[in-house]
Amino acid sequence: MSIPIYTYDAIVVGAGLAGCAAALELEKAGKKVAVITKLHPLRSHSGAAQGGINAAFSDEDSVELHEFDTVKGADYLADQDVVEFMCQKAPETIRWAEKMGAAFSRTPDGKIAQRPFGGQSSPRACYAKDRTGLTLLQTIYEQAHRYGVTFFDEWYAADLLYEDGKVYGVAAYDIKNSEKAIFNAKTVMFATGGYARSFKINSNAHANTGDGLSLVARHGLPLEDMEFVQFHPSGLSGNGVLISEAARGEGGILRNSLGERFMEKYAPNALELASRDVVARAIIQEIREGRGVGPRKDAVYIDLVHLGKDLIMERLPELRDLAITFLGLDMIKEPILISATAHYSMGGIPCDVRGQVRKNNDEFVEGFYAAGECSCVSVHGANRLGANSVLEALLFGRFVGKSMVEDVDGVELRKATQADAQVMTSELEWILSNNGDEKVHGLREELQQSMTDNAGVFRTEETLAKQVNIMKDLRERYKNIRIEDKSKIFNTELQEAIEFGHMLDYSMFIVESALARKESRGAHYREDFPTRDDENFLQHTMGYMDKDGNINLEYMDVVLGKHELRARTY
Ligand SMILES: Cc1cc2nc3c(=O)[nH]c(=O)nc-3n(C[C@H](O)[C@H](O)[C@H](O)COP(=O)(O)OP(=O)(O)OC[C@H]3O[C@@H](n4cnc5c(N)ncnc54)[C@H](O)[C@@H]3O)c2cc1C
Repeated sequence: MSIPIYTYDAIVVGAGLAGCAAALELEKAGKKVAVITKLHPLRSHSGAAQGGINAAFSDEDSVELHEFDTVKGADYLADQDVVEFMCQKAPETIRWAEKMGAAFSRTPDGKIAQRPFGGQSSPRACYAKDRTGLTLLQTIYEQAHRYGVTFFDEWYAADLLYEDGKVYGVAAYDIKNSEKAIFNAKTVMFATGGYARSFKINSNAHANTGDGLSLVARHGLPLEDMEFVQFHPSGLSGNGVLISEAARGEGGILRNSLGERFMEKYAPNALELASRDVVARAIIQEIREGRGVGPRKDAVYIDLVHLGKDLIMERLPELRDLAITFLGLDMIKEPILISATAHYSMGGIPCDVRGQVRKNNDEFVEGFYAAGECSCVSVHGANRLGANSVLEALLFGRFVGKSMVEDVDGVELRKATQADAQVMTSELEWILSNNGDEKVHGLREELQQSMTDNAGVFRTEETLAKQVNIMKDLRERYKNIRIEDKSKIFNTELQEAIEFGHMLDYSMFIVESALARKESRGAHYREDFPTRDDENFLQHTMGYMDKDGNINLEYMDVVLGKHELRARTY
């Protein structure tokens, strides 16, 4: 039976903030657009964002300060032209979201309220209580519906159609019944989100398995700056569920087993509000030196009791619920236990400020765009500041959608054929019929634990080299998997097996890129090379995967600008 081929002007894969914002722009401009999403749009991880979205518009703040904080936070690896663009457009983005109906929290005199976040010179994070992402996602999804965007909910994009430098669609299947389809389009955008699931302790949704990245990499296209994974300082102890930076922004204090406010040692000025990499390393250092708390001594306290019940209930109600649900601790009455959790991925699919995906340092792929956490337009460099990524997703989602509107009429449709479903079909058939003795969940556990141990907050040549071998072994064993569920209806076991294949591929980029970067910068900390080395490593990593799964690394210049290189202290 032949597989249906649907034709569109634009296909957007992913329905978080970036995907929905792009689709809205395309639909408004009268383009024929469809969004493919493996989750219901409102279950996208954007909806989990708690703390806020940055924009410099108060009297004490300025766009230039926002740029400076972002570039400094990035440890100077961000491309400054793109940072300027983002910071300039941030206030307008907030007003745009507000006009569409997003209800932000207010000050008593009716202005949009802003809270302090780490690494920022001024309170800059606009918020809707501690449900900022959900408020924004609901608003924009609603508007996308209002304008008539077509959503393929619970469809899994399993291959990118790419040939001779041109993308012309995706192959996907319906998770509900395993029926396949080819989505043929003049332009395709990836907005597939983050991928911190390859670490054992992480704050990400189960769906954040980096599918988009490895679909790109398997076609020999590059991934950029993959070594830079952000570990957020405050995940609930044991499971990594996020306690937003809003908790520290509102005045939360970190303490070790001796009751010391240990951030006084590590960041005497900014204290708990130093940038995330600095605070996460401080926490792990305290634990390593035996000053951890909790039954396993693998956590520290965050104390919010002094904020009082009223403030906690008004501004941090979700965080309180999370700590009660998962740890049985009420932050109104007692300190809660936290530790660092893998949270955000600075690296991703390389693209320029218009969202066009790079084929290499100098050329672009025709008809292919990316935005949001899966992309690397490089506004975050080596470390992202809190409340800059919801901004990135919404802002670039919208502007990349506009770029696609401008470009699409000039692109000639390359017609898809039945052969374009071949890679997806073979993969599904292989997984369903393979008869080995490995279980995907067992392999995944091993991957996550070893990534946390060897490629986590602290890294060395030895741990990273060890991890490369572990990954090679896991890849061999993956060939020997067997799944029990052979059915066509909601086969989540099949989906998990596909997703694990993606995790293996992109994790190899993380480890190989980290091994080659013999310096410490932002979130990438090498104990054997503890300082920043601008002479040799003020460069973006560009990794390419060959047919045998090996990663070859090249480097690309960073776009510098008016914010000159300095030592980074907080
Ligand atoms: C707990 C938590 C709290 C956060 N809080 C903040 C905050 O306060 N401020 C801030 O700035 N940032 C925050 N972040 C980060 C921020 O939320 C994300 O970076 C951002 O929302 C990502 O948006 P996105 O649109 O790129 O991706 P997502 O919202 O993750 O959406 C990804 C989409 O891709 C789809 N998809 C993926 N793979 C496939 C596939 N193979 N086929 C089909 N569809 C696919 C999914 O269905 C989903 O719709 C937080 C992150 C977490 C985890």
